[in-house]
Amino acid sequence: MGTKKIRPKPILEQEYCKGCERCVIACPKDALHLSSEINPMSGITPVEIEYEICNGCGLCIAACPEPYGLRAGQMESEFQLEDPEKLFGKKQSTAPKAVAIPDEYLDLPESEPLVIKGTYAGAIGALLAGCRHFFGYPITPSTEGTELMAKVLPRLDGAFVQAVSEVAAVNMMYGCGGAGLPCMTFTSSPGVSLMLEGISYMISAQVPGVFVNIMRGGPGLGNIGPEQADLKLVCRGLGHGNTHAIALAPSTPQEMLDLTMKAFHLAFKYRNPVIILGDGYLGQMTGPVKLPRQMVKPGLPEWAVWGDEQHRNNLIASIKLSEIDLEQHNIMLNKKYDLMCQNEQLSATFLCDDAEVLIIACNTPSQMAKGAVQALRKQGVKAGLFRPVTVWPFPIDDFIPRVKRAKKIVVVEASNGQLEDEMRLALSHAGVQNLPVIESIRRFGGVLPQMHEIIERVNTAEEVLS
Ligand code: SF4
Ligand code: SF4
Repeated sequence: MGTKKIRPKPILEQEYCKGCERCVIACPKDALHLSSEINPMSGITPVEIEYEICNGCGLCIAACPEPYGLRAGQMESEFQLEDPEKLFGKKQSTAPKAVAIPDEYLDLPESEPLVIKGTYAGAIGALLAGCRHFFGYPITPSTEGTELMAKVLPRLDGAFVQAVSEVAAVNMMYGCGGAGLPCMTFTSSPGVSLMLEGISYMISAQVPGVFVNIMRGGPGLGNIGPEQADLKLVCRGLGHGNTHAIALAPSTPQEMLDLTMKAFHLAFKYRNPVIILGDGYLGQMTGPVKLPRQMVKPGLPEWAVWGDEQHRNNLIASIKLSEIDLEQHNIMLNKKYDLMCQNEQLSATFLCDDAEVLIIACNTPSQMAKGAVQALRKQGVKAGLFRPVTVWPFPIDDFIPRVKRAKKIVVVEASNGQLEDEMRLALSHAGVQNLPVIESIRRFGGVLPQMHEIIERVNTAEEVLS
């Protein structure tokens, strides 16, 4: 009788295990289970093997997507198995390569305009963009958007999760976006501050997600009035490292819907978070909103960590321990930011073509600025409104020719010069010198600039200059 062959039992390298539990599902003997402790090398809870139960079938090795998570072991018995990498080279995946499933566009019937507040319009825009996953923590003045998603998503087989905090919510978005699914949150200024670390992770790991920030008065908890003081945070911050995200600034409920839909498109186009910057007044303001004639049925990107055979080798991570690798990663991200700057600048203008007084404003203050332009025109002043719709990237290409014609610029904002800083920085990077006189109107704490203030400031500046 020949010697009894004992199949080698698997060797588990816990520091390479990412805890996906595929081996647990594959094991016919229930010999694998998640450990109760986090591995200090990986920061992840790995699996453990009960060798007394294991029969060495090797199914777990085949199931493991990690090159060194599980490998065939050597037993002290009749045959000695060589290290498979020495024999066969690096473990290769036989999984077919994932192919992107494109989005589909579904026709909608013509409908009467709705009269709804900005937060509702944003939520409807997200639903029409195919978003079925929401993670958030309610915060005034954005809560109605969250509320609407909580009501609607369960009826659409979606997922609504009220997380324990904004920190938890953003990390849920990281996971959901990493699976290639459109996801979003509604939040407000202090909530965004808490989300910054997660946003930075998402940017580094190239995970899409849409953040609707209905800005409120600050600093600190401030109040629930409208402000625009998060512009600096969103345009120049977004966590540590070299981070940027397209920031869209709607000024009406209609734009809340349209730009939220656009935000999902941009988030997946660039594999990057996109921020909607609304202000507290816009969030609560009611206005007519016409629904689009098409909605999106999202596909699935090829890079998604989806859990099937094709997507098995995909990995989403924001850590790059090698200095060279991290530098290359940053170079790649910066090229992506350059593309956003080249391709995604968006502005809207009102009576700008012959404007000698250029009023710069976005969000709700742009409504007051528009009224001021109309009044100033009646007085014979050649005023015009330039409204950045993308505050990052600042729409400098459309702005430069208008600045060159202008005799003065008046920046109107509900913050301490954050919009003006973006404008000046964009002009400086574009090498524009010999700027006209720049005036500013800045209000805070929930107080919005008023039409009469803008008119008075323009007229005062006119007198000073004449
Ligand atoms: S070798 Fe087979 S029995 Fe042993 S842990 Fe792996 S799957 Fe389970
Ligand atoms: S399949 Fe591999 S990575 Fe996943 S839990 Fe098992 S050992 Fe860890």
